[in-house]
Amino acid sequence: MAPRHRRLLIGAGVLAIVAFAVALAAWQVSRARCFALDGDIVCRAETQAPLVALTFDDGPTQLGVDAVLPVLERHGATATFFLVGAAVERRPDLARRIRAAGHELGNHSYTHQRMMLRPAAWYDSEIARTEAALARAGGGGSGLFRPPYGKKLLGLPQAVERAGLTMVMMDIEEPTTTDPAEYARKVVAAARPGSILLLHTMVRGNQTARDALPLILDGLKAKGLRPVSVGELMAGATRGTVSAPASDPGSGRSPP
Ligand SMILES: [Zn+2]
Repeated sequence: MAPRHRRLLIGAGVLAIVAFAVALAAWQVSRARCFALDGDIVCRAETQAPLVALTFDDGPTQLGVDAVLPVLERHGATATFFLVGAAVERRPDLARRIRAAGHELGNHSYTHQRMMLRPAAWYDSEIARTEAALARAGGGGSGLFRPPYGKKLLGLPQAVERAGLTMVMMDIEEPTTTDPAEYARKVVAAARPGSILLLHTMVRGNQTARDALPLILDGLKAKGLRPVSVGELMAGATRGTVSAPASDPGSGRSPP
């Protein structure tokens, strides 16, 4: 092969590797729990108070609401439900039931698509239509937003800020097990004052989370941690946020 051709080939190879590395880095940043390229994210609260926030994503679904509300009531726990705007419009009665039981409603987009690489107006519409649906169901005004699939690259953080909302992630995600006891054990072991827990109890296929919920609430109680909504958690605590550009994506730091 002529030297010139070899150089071209090597150049193309290097370019491909760089492009792959950039894409991989962007994907990692887009899904990181506590990091965004721009804008603030709450992923836990910096507090010594023995409180943790319980959050439930998606829906509302009949199955999820019927399963979760009585358990929360029995344990005297409050929570934040991040609901999908279109689902709220289909079943505003379910959103009203959650609200009437004393829980907080948050915005989880209108169509539950990955919120990446879209025009600004699309983000604005997803957020605004859901805010309107929540308000019509009597549960507007929490000021909280959680991105579907945790995706929040460029564009979305600015749209959330334009809407005057706070982006809320979590520091404890669902364990990958189908055993409710093990699921609960892992969640409780990871919980500490200021933690934000995420459970997908609304999803039909996730009976494990529904079965684990009472065990989690028992475990939190035994650990001296009281489950509250995100709003309650943040009210008494310094917000644990990460602002971009942060040198360490893994650690929260307080805003100035
Ligand atoms: Zn979701």
